[in-house]
Amino acid sequence: MTARLIDGNALAREVRAEVAGRTAALRTRGVNPHLAIVLVGDNPASQVYVRHKMADSEATGLAATLHRLPSDTPEPALLGLIARLNADPTVHGVLVQLPLPDGLDARAVISAIDPRKDVDGFHVANAGALATGLPGFRPCTPWGCLRMLDAIGLALRGLQAVVIGRSNIVGKPMALMLLERHATVTICHSATADLAALTRQADVLVAAVGRRHLVTADMVKPGAVVIDVGMNRVPDGEPGAGRLCGDVDFEAVRDVAGWITPVPGGVGPMTRAMLLANTIEAAERQTA
Ligand code: NAP
Repeated sequence: MTARLIDGNALAREVRAEVAGRTAALRTRGVNPHLAIVLVGDNPASQVYVRHKMADSEATGLAATLHRLPSDTPEPALLGLIARLNADPTVHGVLVQLPLPDGLDARAVISAIDPRKDVDGFHVANAGALATGLPGFRPCTPWGCLRMLDAIGLALRGLQAVVIGRSNIVGKPMALMLLERHATVTICHSATADLAALTRQADVLVAAVGRRHLVTADMVKPGAVVIDVGMNRVPDGEPGAGRLCGDVDFEAVRDVAGWITPVPGGVGPMTRAMLLANTIEAAERQTA
């Protein structure tokens, strides 16, 4: 069997087109949907992510403002900026790029964002809303994964889903979203005994670890849907050194799986697109 590809780039284009349409509709009502991004310090990867977020926003007609602060910014100053953005009715989404420099408490900072503007979906109020089945903002990466499963028409009810990874931004919310759709969900992590025995049961397997080739072909049930969230680099000395790769041994697993997401071109573009979807949602809710 050769798995069919779930094309994250194509699906992300669809999401962006939807967002662009909704943005245009809000503008006709005089609302200018606006995302504020806060970047503290000069982490090179964060700078790249923020550039993408700004460019994506502008390409879909959303206004985006970048607030850059030096890495030695005292926490009260950062909290003060967030308070001003929370209070500003022209700002609909507030995102603080993580990780924060040492000395700043990410939990306290995220908690300071108004949950109605928390387009990353990381605030405890939004995490709690997901856990208890209430509406709220869903974290962009698992939200994008769910959208990919919907795009292939997968009915999750009654399926066995296995999520590898239990972070607050990917693994846990992914598991909750699958549970909300009536899948039977197993969450695996670094202390899981016999990971392969569990993954082999999975109709839907989500890998969100950050370890290249963690998921090998013998760990995958024939026909399964495999979603690869991992972002790793091929190590020096190997063919394709430096290239982006996922957690799944793509070439081998595609012969076993029914559907598979590539890396790059899978979950990454969907994560970016779902931030735009959350931002337009925030603008619509605040101006309804
Ligand atoms: P994280 O916070 O480091 O969490 C990794 C999880 O993997 C942890 O729960 C850890 O278990 C588990 N784990 C580690 N080794 C394991 C093993 N051998 N077997 C089973 N589980 C194991 O990472 P994250 O933020 O969730 O991100 C995960 C990956 O997704 C990374 O590669 C990241 O770059 C990528 N990512 C991609 C996107 C995208 O848009 N494509 C977005 C976000 C993240 P413990 O909890 O026991 O430590």
